[in-house]
Amino acid sequence: MLTAIVGINWGDEGKGRMVDLLSKDYDIVCRYQGGNNAGHTVINERGRFILNLLPSGILREGVVCVMGPGMVIDIRHLAGEMARLREAGIAISPENLKISDRAVITMPYNVQQDCLEEERLADKKFGSTKRGIAPVYADKYLKKAFRMGELKNPARLFARLPGIVEWKNLTIRGSYGAEEVREEDMRAYFNEYGLPLQDYICDVGLYLNEAHAAGKKILLEAQLGALRDIDYGIYPYTSSSNNIAAYGPIGAGVPNLKLDKVIGIMKAYSSCVGEGPFTAEYFGEKAEKLRKAGGEYGAATGRPRRVGPFDVVASKYGIRCQGADEIALTKLDILSGHEEIEVCVGYELDGKVFTEFPFTDVLDDCKPVFAKVKGWNCDISSCRKKEDLPQAALDYIRYIEDACACKVRYVSVGAERDAYIEL
Ligand code: GDP
Repeated sequence: MLTAIVGINWGDEGKGRMVDLLSKDYDIVCRYQGGNNAGHTVINERGRFILNLLPSGILREGVVCVMGPGMVIDIRHLAGEMARLREAGIAISPENLKISDRAVITMPYNVQQDCLEEERLADKKFGSTKRGIAPVYADKYLKKAFRMGELKNPARLFARLPGIVEWKNLTIRGSYGAEEVREEDMRAYFNEYGLPLQDYICDVGLYLNEAHAAGKKILLEAQLGALRDIDYGIYPYTSSSNNIAAYGPIGAGVPNLKLDKVIGIMKAYSSCVGEGPFTAEYFGEKAEKLRKAGGEYGAATGRPRRVGPFDVVASKYGIRCQGADEIALTKLDILSGHEEIEVCVGYELDGKVFTEFPFTDVLDDCKPVFAKVKGWNCDISSCRKKEDLPQAALDYIRYIEDACACKVRYVSVGAERDAYIEL
């Protein structure tokens, strides 16, 4: 059984908490793309955790976590994340964490390059998380990257290093005029943070195939959402990898396996970190109220997120790109206490209303078309069954299901593990 949990919108939909919850029914949880630009917040009986690189399944005993070949791994960041979790009593060993030999290593110069470019762009900046993600994926496709498997053969790795450093300095020193990358610093980076990982590194595809054949259940955990996918998102304001479910088996190391199910995570309202078109955006006091209510500040960066109402146009597109079979609608509790709730049902441009998500360039000039649905005035955070929810909340869920043509299977009404309803 191979299931993917993916984001339908701009990310931050609450994927981490849904993976944490649903991992109870899985043996293996696998991250298949991206790096430490993700920030999955998980709150459970063991504490409050922010996971950037490790799959959210790491918090469940008995679950094996896999970091797939589609990932880019900042090994210094990984060392810190592992240390923090261990301090909190979470056991991590090669038994419950397997890192793909094909995953790419994010280098300190990739982070440096990311910062230099954002500085150069000044007020035209993209809102990069400055974790080196775009530069390291660029290096991967230029075939100048280091892969995790190379850490198992340090002699070969260190022999390749001078040529790469020389090449990278053409950009860092040559183009940006910044302080040059030093070979000994890179060697120290590998020695300190990479070599201790040797026992974790393996062919995860082989492991996953054997597990799959033995009837184990595998959950693929995405980072970000469809609208940040490098090919299908709001390019160039996207991330640098494919986060869509169809890429899941490739990025996990099992291109031969087919997904059995795709669970799309969608928030009851919208949020978007960083730059780029966000048609349904609220501004001013209206935005501040929703941002505060939802605690919409980035887990990885602390940046205030842009917010708006639920966006039917973007969500329908996200569901299509993800091929979602069912939806988990998160943070419904945040919408409590309103007479009416706004929903974005179209994008208007020059008198024409789009109900299908247009090409990114068009988005820049679109204005939102809002509709209103009835709200509810009571607190729903202690609801645990469908029958506990007020009729207006049930109607809101039904409205979204109909508008997006996809069934909502789970609704979450609080950040805690048990604060959810299965419909
Ligand atoms: P992810 O990147 O998709 O995992 O999402 P984030 O972790 O960035 O954002 C989700 C945030 O909302 C986290 O702080 C969660 O603890 C919190 N959260 C998740 N589900 C709910 C919910 O149903 N209600 C409330 N109030 N908070 C939630």
